[in-house]
Amino acid sequence: MNTRDYQDLDRAHHLHPFTDFKALGEEGSRIVTHAEGIYIHDSEGNRILDAMAGLWCVNLGYGREELVEAATAQLRELPYYNNFFKTTHPPAIKLAEKLVQLAPAHMNRVFFTGSGSEANDTVLRMVRRYWALEGKPDKQWIIARENAYHGSTVAGLSLGGMAPMHGQGGPTVPKIAHVRQPYWFGEGRGMQGGGSDPDSFGRECAAALEAEILALGEENVAAFIAEPVQGAGGAIIPPASYWPAVKEVLARYDILLVVDEVICGFGRLGEWFGSVHYDLKPDLMPIAKGLSSGYLPIGGVLVGDRVAETLIEEGGEFFHGFTYSGHPVCAAVALKNLELMQAEGIVERVRDDVGPYLAERWATLAEHPLVGEARSLGLIGALELVGDKATGARFPKSLGVGTLCRDICFETGLVMRSVGDTMIISPPLVIRRAEVDELVRLARQALDETARRLAAGSAVDDRPYLEETRS
Ligand SMILES: *Cc1c(COP(=O)(O)O)cnc(C)c1O
Repeated sequence: MNTRDYQDLDRAHHLHPFTDFKALGEEGSRIVTHAEGIYIHDSEGNRILDAMAGLWCVNLGYGREELVEAATAQLRELPYYNNFFKTTHPPAIKLAEKLVQLAPAHMNRVFFTGSGSEANDTVLRMVRRYWALEGKPDKQWIIARENAYHGSTVAGLSLGGMAPMHGQGGPTVPKIAHVRQPYWFGEGRGMQGGGSDPDSFGRECAAALEAEILALGEENVAAFIAEPVQGAGGAIIPPASYWPAVKEVLARYDILLVVDEVICGFGRLGEWFGSVHYDLKPDLMPIAKGLSSGYLPIGGVLVGDRVAETLIEEGGEFFHGFTYSGHPVCAAVALKNLELMQAEGIVERVRDDVGPYLAERWATLAEHPLVGEARSLGLIGALELVGDKATGARFPKSLGVGTLCRDICFETGLVMRSVGDTMIISPPLVIRRAEVDELVRLARQALDETARRLAAGSAVDDRPYLEETRS
């Protein structure tokens, strides 16, 4: 089969996730056929540097034979058995032990799921169940953040703060509130009352959380959920003041902290968990993605002692779980993935070597005329594309500059994702320095080409695309 054959069949039968079906049908999909290291290959023979590690998950890179062997061996030994009805199997037990060794000291239990969304469904049920068992059944509200991503099941999208998702398929799960996100470039600068600098803005966002707690009444609030660094929202690294101020707020009230580690967990920020980087003490940590480097689907919730002890001692049966909770083959691959990360010192390498190196190289892109801000932490990064470098004003939405740049990246041989006009990266954690150089070179080339096409476009229809400011 050639590319056209694949595209025709794809168009005829396959509804893709997060996709405008009709538009994709007209355009045709890119067919990814194989991959190695940090590169994917398509059916047209292009080799493309995957600066998104698939969907933030292929942390050990493609083509790791050890993971293939772990899966194969487990498939032969025991391809499936469940963890219901007082049964389990060695891979689930060993993975639970390994996770608890890596997690903060007060987290000694894990509940397995098949994905990050299922992990957040589990979180929702666990926190409400916890408070009911504590004799506080009114503590049901969960405070989340605007533009957060917590998955695409009904609970996941309800906890998430993605307006377009809320606009489809509602009503969402009741008793979930959303507060302002700590997005300085997108919302802080120049905002009414937004403060004059990132740190005062960060403190204002924490104050907004406190105001929401007071408005709902502490006696009604079960938990606050947040990603350490927002991923899908645009690789949003909060101002340095934000997490310390949030910690201060939470310390004043008896509310559980849920830190969604689906992206930040397993080394992305240069620690095993984003919670360690920001010194948070979460009660619950949903995990997935990098847990298995994406080789097989698996997620879970790491549960702190406070919640676990109540669920265990007071709870009776917890009526929740999935057919594939702790699937033996997925668990075996996840375990091998974590063992390899430890043996190869991947997390330390991100923290001490390749993370700082990326930061230095990535920052050079801030000089580009299209770039209003270049930020990174560990191996996550973003570029804010702007129409006016002096004021930081955005291009008009209608120009779709982020999408244009993303498409040009693909043509250039680079996967960089766009969120509006924010370009984001989250490369495999095994990326080497020379590959970082290549990534930055390709990104600069794509930015140059984007600028060239924008200039050509404006010359044709004389569109005043520099006028409109951020919305
Ligand atoms: C991807 C993601 C999820 C959802 O995980 P799935 O495996 O796609 O269900 C949840 N939270 C965060 C922070 C994510 O990035």
